[in-house]
Amino acid sequence: MLGVHDDLKRVVRRALELSPFDFGVTSGKRTAKEQNALFKNGASQLDGYSRKSRHQDGCAIDFVVYDENNKVTWGFSYYEQVSWAFKQAAQELNVPIVWGGDWVSFKDGPHVELDKRFYS
Ligand SMILES: [Zn+2]
Repeated sequence: MLGVHDDLKRVVRRALELSPFDFGVTSGKRTAKEQNALFKNGASQLDGYSRKSRHQDGCAIDFVVYDENNKVTWGFSYYEQVSWAFKQAAQELNVPIVWGGDWVSFKDGPHVELDKRFYS
C-alpha cells in the first residue's frame, strides 16, 4: 500500500478485522503509465492522462477476496460482504469512502476509494 493515503490505509486495516472473508490489497497507487496500460487492456475506462484514476493520487485501492477455502474468488456476493466491512470501518473511523460495486454504469467490486467530495 505504498503511496496510499493514510486514512484509506486505516480503513483497510480495520476492514480486515471486521470482514467475514480474508482479502488482500492488489493495487494501490499507480503511475499514469500503469493506468494507461490498464486502459489499453480494457481493465479500466480511464486512460490515466485525459481521464485520471483515483489510484493515481493514492486515494483508491483494489482488493481480492479469499473464499471459505482460502481460494481467490471473483464472486460478486463475496465482494459485497467485504464492502460492508469497509463501510463499517469507514463509519467508525469517520473516513468517507465509496465502493466501486455501488456504481451503476461500471460495477467495480474489487475497488474502494476515498469519497471525492471530501478528498480531492
Ligand atoms: Zn480500482
